[in-house]
Amino acid sequence: MSSASLPAPLLELLGEPLSRGELRADEPLGKHSQFGVGGPADWYWEPASAALLPDVLRLCSELDFPCTVLGAGSNCLILDGGIRGLVLKFPATRVEHQGEGLVCLQAGALLPRAAFDTAYQGLLGLAFGVGIPGTAGAAAAGNAGAFGGEIGEILESLEAVLPGGDVLRLSPDDLRPRYRRTALQETSLQGAVVTQVWLRLREGEVASARLDVRRVMRERKASQPSGVRSLGSTFKNPTEEKAGQLIDACGLKGFQVGAAQVSPQHANFICNLGGARAADVLALTALIRQRVRERFGVELELEIIPVGSPGFQQRSS
Ligand SMILES: Cc1cc2nc3c(=O)[nH]c(=O)nc-3n(C[C@H](O)[C@H](O)[C@H](O)COP(=O)(O)OP(=O)(O)OC[C@H]3O[C@@H](n4cnc5c(N)ncnc54)[C@H](O)[C@@H]3O)c2cc1C
Repeated sequence: MSSASLPAPLLELLGEPLSRGELRADEPLGKHSQFGVGGPADWYWEPASAALLPDVLRLCSELDFPCTVLGAGSNCLILDGGIRGLVLKFPATRVEHQGEGLVCLQAGALLPRAAFDTAYQGLLGLAFGVGIPGTAGAAAAGNAGAFGGEIGEILESLEAVLPGGDVLRLSPDDLRPRYRRTALQETSLQGAVVTQVWLRLREGEVASARLDVRRVMRERKASQPSGVRSLGSTFKNPTEEKAGQLIDACGLKGFQVGAAQVSPQHANFICNLGGARAADVLALTALIRQRVRERFGVELELEIIPVGSPGFQQRSS
């Protein structure tokens, strides 16, 4: 198998030296997905820093070469045909406390790590993130949240690069965070890549910050499946009801398509029992939506994000 060729200006920018990051062709994306599925990326780039990003996005845009940003792969369902063009993934980094509760997270910083780190510094407000196994960039872009807290409530600002290469500093007013959405999924900001996130936390006692984190961990353990591959909640909660309760009431707990199963523990989670394909998940979500529509007249909206092309395609070089 050969990868689609990388346009020369991009190859020149992203190739050697190593300080620009790692560039690989035909990268299997299953290993970058927490569900463990997904075909290959034509080209995969792990930048050493975000410094080259404006030039890369500008070139991709000028050359009409698709570019997709991936976080920890905990919310997107990478489809079986993989992702065409360039896939970029930021490295995981640590949180930096800049004083008076202001913390800076690079896009690839993992939220659970950041929740622990900030708690150990006596900073309060990010405990809810301990069970959200994603990156700061994706969490800010999609306003991730749990147990009554969400990123939008503690967001001071973020830096993002627009597809044309412009770098912007955006405030919560620009982003208008709401339930699992921000302006980055719409308007002129669509497709912007978050590079840094600043959160405003409250300064307090280390002991009580650590207690908060432990409480969230305990509650999650009791209510959600652990030790299985999943993408968290499959559907957004409709306004009045919980998606999991509607699915459960349709008798779908434990229902399987291929090796994708509605979790017997939490009906809004789909688990990979081993060897599932993205196509199994899509078939299962279609069936769930149909059953819930027929029984309750409610249209469930996906929270997981399908990315890439559905079937494996033979590509030419
Ligand atoms: C066990 C489990 C529990 C979960 N619990 C929760 C929960 O309680 N609450 C919750 O909100 N979510 C939850 N999730 C879902 C998921 O962790 C979050 O949505 C998280 O924010 C996704 O981060 P990620 O880095 O994995 O993003 P990915 O899945 O890699 O990507 C998700 C989307 O974000 C985009 N993206 C990635 N990085 C960037 C960036 N730097 N800039 C712009 N866009 C970007 C991607 O293109 C994609 O469209 C859970 C998932 C799992 C597996």
